[in-house]
Amino acid sequence: MFDESDYERASKLAQNEIDAALSRHRAQQAARGAGRETCLECGEPIPAARRLAVAAELCVDCQAIQERQANMTGGAMSWTLNWTALRFSLDLLMLVGVVMVGIYSWWVARNQATKSAIDTVGERVYSVEERMTRVERDIRNLPTPSDLYELNQRIATVHGDLREIKGALQGLSRAVDLMNEHLISRGGRD
Ligand SMILES: [Zn+2]
Repeated sequence: MFDESDYERASKLAQNEIDAALSRHRAQQAARGAGRETCLECGEPIPAARRLAVAAELCVDCQAIQERQANMTGGAMSWTLNWTALRFSLDLLMLVGVVMVGIYSWWVARNQATKSAIDTVGERVYSVEERMTRVERDIRNLPTPSDLYELNQRIATVHGDLREIKGALQGLSRAVDLMNEHLISRGGRD
């Protein structure tokens, strides 16, 4: 059975184990250059507890500043990542823009071709309209059936007049013949 001295011996052995482990730990920390007594940044003394626990090279304040800076660097890194994403987005946007400009150019060229074809047809329609207008004007200037009828009537009238004149001339010619015969027969008697 354990008595008082056994307990003390065991307790002492355990304490020795703990001390040995602690001194090994301290030796390791010292070998890593850790556990500085003063802060690397500001030179303030570092409390022993902190020094041994985390092998600190900086006081609590300087550690906090350094961590903030690290966070900011992390922020800068994430910003860089965002920038890369943005650049990719811009490249994609440019590609989309180039494709859209290409499609627009093709569409405009196609429409211009259509437009020139429409213009050609329009010009031909215009020239046909012009010719039709001329023909209509010429047709309007042609004699109408009533014009032709009136002309026919006038020709008939002139024809009748000419007949009358012919008859009168024949009568006149006979009178001249008679006068000539009379003059000749009287000249023979004188
Ligand atoms: Zn410090």
